[in-house]
Amino acid sequence: MTTILTQGVYFHGIVKGKYLAVWPVYVMGDDPKALTFTIAADEPNTAQLFLHQAATDYVMEDSTYFKRSYITSTIRQRLHQKSFRERVLEAYSSQCAFCKLKHAELLDAAHIIPDADELGGPLVNNGLSLCKIHHAAFDSNIIGITPDYKMMVREDILLERDGPMLRHGIQQLHDQKIILPKSKLLWPDQNRLEVRYNKFREVG
Ligand SMILES: [Zn+2]
Repeated sequence: MTTILTQGVYFHGIVKGKYLAVWPVYVMGDDPKALTFTIAADEPNTAQLFLHQAATDYVMEDSTYFKRSYITSTIRQRLHQKSFRERVLEAYSSQCAFCKLKHAELLDAAHIIPDADELGGPLVNNGLSLCKIHHAAFDSNIIGITPDYKMMVREDILLERDGPMLRHGIQQLHDQKIILPKSKLLWPDQNRLEVRYNKFREVG
């Protein structure tokens, strides 16, 4: 395979006005009719080598090709995860859907159905903006969400007596409605919530 290497920087759009830069990337093919390019990512330290070889009509070996497609898919996966977080936080105006905490550095994009699952996936409807504590509480089935968006605290946790974190941070959320995105299109998918809530009831 003979490849003319055009080096560049790829800007991955996350939300309006926010981009992630990936450098270096190579144009591997171009389709003028569809106005698209195929690009591959590479590690910065190998970039110069490839550029040098490109000048001498470098024939790319299979191992190089596979290495590059591996790096490309790794970066694609990372962008995918990163953009899921950005999109979910934006939908919830950067606040915890359980407790309204508004510090992005303490917020995660939690999956309703895990990524690996068939119904999982990086859709905002499969996500919730949750603070670290509530993300862990949701994942470990201490708090569940009904398909009609109510938080349910596990029974044994409700009966426990402890300090303010347990009382205010967890027990008082019981039977309250979660914060939902302004746009109804971005609300958590009720089918996914139901699947997840049934799991919560099984273990609780
Ligand atoms: Zn919270």
